[in-house]
Amino acid sequence: MIKKAFQSISLSALGMGNMRLPVLENVEGNPIDYEKAAEIIDYAYANGINYFDTAYVYHGGESEKFLGKAMKKYDRSSYYLATKFLIGANPDYKAVFAEQLERLQTDYIDFYLVHAVGDGSAEDYIKSGCIDYFKELKAQGKIKYLGFSAHASLGCLERFADLTDWDFVQIQLNYYDWYYGGAKKEYEALEKRNIPIMVMEPVRGGKLATLSSDATAILSAKKPEWKNPEWALRFVKSLPQVQVILSGMSTLDQIKENIETFRDATPLTEDEQATLKEACDAFTKQMKVPCTACRYCCDDCPMEIEIPKFLDIFNRYKIDGPWALGGIKDVKSNGTPKDCIGCGACTGHCPQNIQVPAIMQELAELMN
Ligand code: SF4
Ligand code: SF4
Repeated sequence: MIKKAFQSISLSALGMGNMRLPVLENVEGNPIDYEKAAEIIDYAYANGINYFDTAYVYHGGESEKFLGKAMKKYDRSSYYLATKFLIGANPDYKAVFAEQLERLQTDYIDFYLVHAVGDGSAEDYIKSGCIDYFKELKAQGKIKYLGFSAHASLGCLERFADLTDWDFVQIQLNYYDWYYGGAKKEYEALEKRNIPIMVMEPVRGGKLATLSSDATAILSAKKPEWKNPEWALRFVKSLPQVQVILSGMSTLDQIKENIETFRDATPLTEDEQATLKEACDAFTKQMKVPCTACRYCCDDCPMEIEIPKFLDIFNRYKIDGPWALGGIKDVKSNGTPKDCIGCGACTGHCPQNIQVPAIMQELAELMN
């Protein structure tokens, strides 16, 4: 396991995320499958992982309890616990922290994070006084290192980063968000401030594990022995400001594969990075409808549907999954995909030959 220095300690480059632990599928509420989950934790520990990440809300609060129990048998000084305070779940930060110590069966937290700072929640965190309280806890030794995790605009991330002397920041970072999203700018903003980065979603919630057939073919032609997730992890671990890469491992096979990838610190070569970009482009092209938002289709739509806006949501749905559909309600349009009568007046105008009626139908079904 690659280890990287962090202040006066040394952290494994791969961290064990406890957000997607195996669950008992046939039991109501899908509780954590303690036996299988503990097997994963034990494997992680035995193979040099020393960073274990959870949060107050993971698995409905059961993740912290599970981790507290699973780690109990190990010397407390031999591993590092990371957990988080989410203001939206319970604004009483003092009570939350006390409960977390109890759940985790410990009297201190190594890495403590203000959780999921976003443009909507940043102000709430600032006004609540929680940051000063956590700094007090740090002075008392109950928190060893203080940081925050963010799903925020660049401006919000930078503002929050400048609030205090954070020890680390956790962001979503993977090659797709690097090439097509804001991850590169976020990375650079933190690098400029010399703040170590903990990475979440290095495989983008598993999306980069499956990819598309074209993209997979490009990657396997270059390195037949590397699977898709390995490419994603290798990309992130090549970035020098990255400290720990969290992977929410749900099976023993997954953790075994990931640990193999982290035996070797060699960064991707420029040539390999170019291959990855090529595969990422192919993936995006294959997944997305190539709408250029020219609006040639809009004027003749009898139902006054804002076609390109709905196609944009459809594209995001293809890459990001069902949560992207939440944007449908915010589209300013007289008609919605449900109003499409399949007349085909749009397709005749589309220079990209996009089969709009079929997509409207698919969106309409997804809206149900
Ligand atoms: S097929 Fe649907 S989206 Fe296209 S013009 Fe007709 S009503 Fe509008
Ligand atoms: S005409 Fe085609 S490319 Fe242009 S906005 Fe409509 S669907 Fe998109």
